Amino acid sequence: MEPAPSEHVWLDGRFVARGEALVPVTTHALHYGTSAFEGIRAYWNSEDLLVFRLDDHIRRLRRSGGFYGMSLRHSDAEIRGAVLELCRRNALRENAYIRPFHFVGGHGISLHVDGDAPTSLGIYAFPLGDLFDKGGISAGVSSWRRFSDSSAPPQAKMGGNYLNAILATREAVQNGYDEALLLDQDGNLSEAPGENVFLVRDGGLVTPPASSSALEGLTRGAVIEMAGDLGIKVTERDIPRSEIHLADEVFLSGTAAEITPVRSVDRRAVGGGGGGGGGGAEAAAAAVPGEVTRRIMAAYDDAVMNRSGAYARWVTGVYR
Ligand code: PMP
Repeated sequence: MEPAPSEHVWLDGRFVARGEALVPVTTHALHYGTSAFEGIRAYWNSEDLLVFRLDDHIRRLRRSGGFYGMSLRHSDAEIRGAVLELCRRNALRENAYIRPFHFVGGHGISLHVDGDAPTSLGIYAFPLGDLFDKGGISAGVSSWRRFSDSSAPPQAKMGGNYLNAILATREAVQNGYDEALLLDQDGNLSEAPGENVFLVRDGGLVTPPASSSALEGLTRGAVIEMAGDLGIKVTERDIPRSEIHLADEVFLSGTAAEITPVRSVDRRAVGGGGGGGGGGAEAAAAAVPGEVTRRIMAAYDDAVMNRSGAYARWVTGVYR
C-alpha cells in the first residue's frame, strides 16, 4: 500500500493537520461522484523537488469540473502556490505524488449542479516510487468497454468515471494480469484504466485518438512531443484490437505509471512476431523494454529531471 497522506493537507485555502481534513457524510461527491481530481508527480533530484507539468494539471482540474458546471473558487496562481507550499510544509525530499481534488460539498440530494453548488478543493501528497515494474507488465483486454463520450465526457477526470476503471482493474487482477486494456465502444483500443497506451510499429508510435475515449493524458502529450524531437513518427488513429498483436512493442504512459513497458497482452508475448501466433517457445522472446520504448523512457526520465533543459517549461522547482 502507498504511504499515508502528508501530515499537512491544504483544504479550502488553509493548511490543516491530516486528521482534521474531514468532510461531512452528506458531501455530494460521496453520493454522486461529483469530484474532479488530478495526480501530479514531483521528482527529487538531490537538490530540488521538481513538479512535473503543474500548470497543465491545474488547467485540466479546472476544465474537468467545468464540464459539470462546478466552480473552482481558487485562482490558478493560488492553487499553484498551494501545491508548492504543501511540498515545503511536508518537507518532501523524495519522489512524490500530489493529489488535488475538487468536489461538490453540501448540496442535498439535488442532481442539479451549477456554479452555485458549494465546492471544496483539497490537496495532499505522499511519497511514491514506481507504480509498476519498469521491466514490463502483463495486460489483459477487458470485457468492460471504456465509457464513451455519448454517456459522459471522457476528458473530465471525475471521480465517478473511475467506476469503469475499477471494474476493468478488478477483472484484470482476477485474471492474473498486472493491468487492463480497455476497448472503446466500437471495439478499438482506447486506453488502460489510468494510463494511455502506445504501440510501436515499424519504428514509429501509434496511439488511440481522443475519439476512442482516451484521455488526452499529459504524459501522452509529452511522449508525442519528445518522440517528434527524437525523429520518431507518431500517428494518432483507430487501433483495432487485433493490431495489438502486430505491435513490436507496447507501453503505457501516465503520471503515476510514467512509461511502463507491456510484455504480454492476453498472455501473448508482445513483439513475438506473426500476430502473436504460435507463442510460447516458438515465438522469439522480444527484449522488454524494446528499443523504441527504452528511448522514450530515457527521454521522459531526462524531462522530469530537467537534465537537458529542453523541456524546462514542464518543470517547477519547489525549493529553488
Ligand atoms: N487515462 C486515464 C483514464 C487516467 O486516469 C490517466 C491518469 N491521469 C491517464 C490516462 C494518463 O494521463 P496523464 O498522463 O495526464 O497522467
